[in-house]
Amino acid sequence: MNSDQPAGTAAATKAATIIVIGAGQAGGWAAQTLRKEGFTGRLVLIGDESHPPHERPPLSKAVLAGEAAPESLTLLKPDAFHALALEWRHATHVTRIDRPAKCIETANGEAIPYDKLILCTGGKARHLAVPGSDSAPVYTLRRIEDALALAPALGPGRAIVVIGGGWIGLEVAATARKKGAEVTVVEAQGRLCERTVPAQVSEHLLALHHSHGTRVLLGAGVEQVSRSADGRSVVGLTNGSELPCDAIVVGVGLVPNDQLARDSGLACEGGVIVDARCQTSDPDIFAAGDVAVTPNPWAGRRLRLESWQNAQEQGIAAARSALGLEVNYQPLPWFWSDQYDMNLQIYGVPSLAHRVVARGNPGADSFVLFYLDGNVVKAAIGHNAARDLRFARRLIEQNKPVDADQLADAGVPMSKL
Ligand SMILES: Cc1cc2nc3c(=O)[nH]c(=O)nc-3n(C[C@H](O)[C@H](O)[C@H](O)COP(=O)(O)OP(=O)(O)OC[C@H]3O[C@@H](n4cnc5c(N)ncnc54)[C@H](O)[C@@H]3O)c2cc1C
Repeated sequence: MNSDQPAGTAAATKAATIIVIGAGQAGGWAAQTLRKEGFTGRLVLIGDESHPPHERPPLSKAVLAGEAAPESLTLLKPDAFHALALEWRHATHVTRIDRPAKCIETANGEAIPYDKLILCTGGKARHLAVPGSDSAPVYTLRRIEDALALAPALGPGRAIVVIGGGWIGLEVAATARKKGAEVTVVEAQGRLCERTVPAQVSEHLLALHHSHGTRVLLGAGVEQVSRSADGRSVVGLTNGSELPCDAIVVGVGLVPNDQLARDSGLACEGGVIVDARCQTSDPDIFAAGDVAVTPNPWAGRRLRLESWQNAQEQGIAAARSALGLEVNYQPLPWFWSDQYDMNLQIYGVPSLAHRVVARGNPGADSFVLFYLDGNVVKAAIGHNAARDLRFARRLIEQNKPVDADQLADAGVPMSKL
């Protein structure tokens, strides 16, 4: 039991029932944290997938490449999962939260009362809303089954069109190229990953994919997808051109699974709104992970983070909060992406207003871009620079002025700053 636990918390939650909806990464961490913090009551984990809680990042990387088995994604070994002594309802969809009765209902007709509820329902891959996308074979990538279905379509010599030049699209493009496919990325915006990184990093990503022989079409709208007479797929662009291919992969973002929360009257805005305690507008309901919209002091606004780090840390925070423990969840956002031999990491929230200081040559094999407000580092993006980024993280968290010249000088060890 944690030493900072307020007196009486264990007694208050001992006999209670806590339900976690969503058995992905956040739900898995919430469930194991409840037990770790000493919760001995009834614990029900409900997920509509058939797999135990697992992580998704390798789905677009090692699993798609055929280098890792889906079983390797599981959060807990079977013994450890079993030791949680929870009621696991897999392949079970929750259809309703009856807040006045404090009860949830599942699609197979079960009603389970709760004292506290934790929503970790994540999100689903956004579908392409253009004519033909229901009839032509179009792949998305969110679940294990999606990766297993897509992997065989990426063989040598196959022509793949990836619609969407965001993180998932670019990781799929990189994996497909590594497997010998011919890849075209179609992006509607003027640059890659426009929503999440500054232009300099978009250019770096573009150069990386060009250097591996991927064709990238920027500012290219998709008008329709179809099937040609010879059975191939065709992506029709708004400029009238057509891209015949063997497979279409759509990576155009995520739709948060907040319908359940919205139907039950919880405050939502592109996800379930929570406070720094991970508490929703109902004091007995908490939310975490990709579905949660959380005040973030590093961004100065509410954010819905779609990242491995947030799924784990907010899952832990929501569980602690449900037990009445003190929680003030204010994470410095951290995200990484692996494409080819590039490991790109982002700490904080870079903004256009920031002054950019480069350490190393952007475009080289290893560099860090720092984003400064005055002389204070607010965010950092690094390419193959994990060690420097660990120090950058500390600089951001310390919020202290630094010497920008020293920051830019790769000869000055980051530890000295
Ligand atoms: C292909 C891929 C690659 C990624 N790569 C990276 C990366 O490199 N770096 C990084 O930082 N992040 C990465 N991410 C993001 C990271 O994996 C997610 O942020 C994380 O998985 C979110 O976890 P979650 O538990 O909030 O949601 P999810 O993992 O989506 O889990 C939610 C679960 O709830 C279930 N559910 C929803 N509604 C209901 C309901 N009503 N009843 C029952 N069950 C329900 C869903 O089916 C799902 O199983 C990647 C994601 C994907 C898809």
